[in-house]
Amino acid sequence: MVSEQLEARGIGDPQVLAAFMAVERHRFVADGGEGDPYGDHAMPVGQGQTISQPYVVARMTELAAPASGWAGARVLEVGTGSGYGAAILAQLGAEVTTIERHAPLAELARDRLQDAGYGRVNVIVGDGTEGWPAGGPYRSILVTAGGPSVPPPLLEQLDSEGGRLVMPVGSREHQVLTVVERRGEAWTTSELDPVVFVPLIGRHGVSEG
Ligand code: SAM
Repeated sequence: MVSEQLEARGIGDPQVLAAFMAVERHRFVADGGEGDPYGDHAMPVGQGQTISQPYVVARMTELAAPASGWAGARVLEVGTGSGYGAAILAQLGAEVTTIERHAPLAELARDRLQDAGYGRVNVIVGDGTEGWPAGGPYRSILVTAGGPSVPPPLLEQLDSEGGRLVMPVGSREHQVLTVVERRGEAWTTSELDPVVFVPLIGRHGVSEG
């Protein structure tokens, strides 16, 4: 998975590659589920949601990397899903808060994270479009569901000294991986790869259905 799907497509950060080697992806995919957990694709995780393709998780992780490094950095993930992305961030040494709107998914992810040795990840049930101010400000915010624009509370919770946010922004059908960097009260936006994610449902996202 790491050499064929990540390195071959340009993921070059040795720390990120090492984290993907260390975290056992099969632990985060339902037992008895169909398909290869290490395959080059997203997979269902219940509640109509998915664990993202390994390459997309790696790409977002690289783009979100704090300039001062991952060790001890406060990081927020919106959309816990299986817990895999949170495990990668914890493996990198970040202090991770992750929010999931579906309580059953959050509970399962919490158990899986605990079993895999990442029990220090703070798993919250709620609307991640509001962020989680108590855990911030964040050096990095990764939003793993697509919405029409970046939720304002997340922009506010970014560290003002170079905090970075990565999110798929666009319509329900297509989004663009967007990076926002904050310096003081200025936010700079870059639009990168075309992607397709499940919708970001919430007060500052889209409505259900
Ligand atoms: N990071 C996940 C992983 O590693 O498995 C993949 C996440 S999946 C592509 C997107 C997740 O975002 C879904 O589990 C979905 O329920 C969740 N989600 C959507 N809107 C949300 C919101 N407003 N707050 C929190 N979670 C949300």
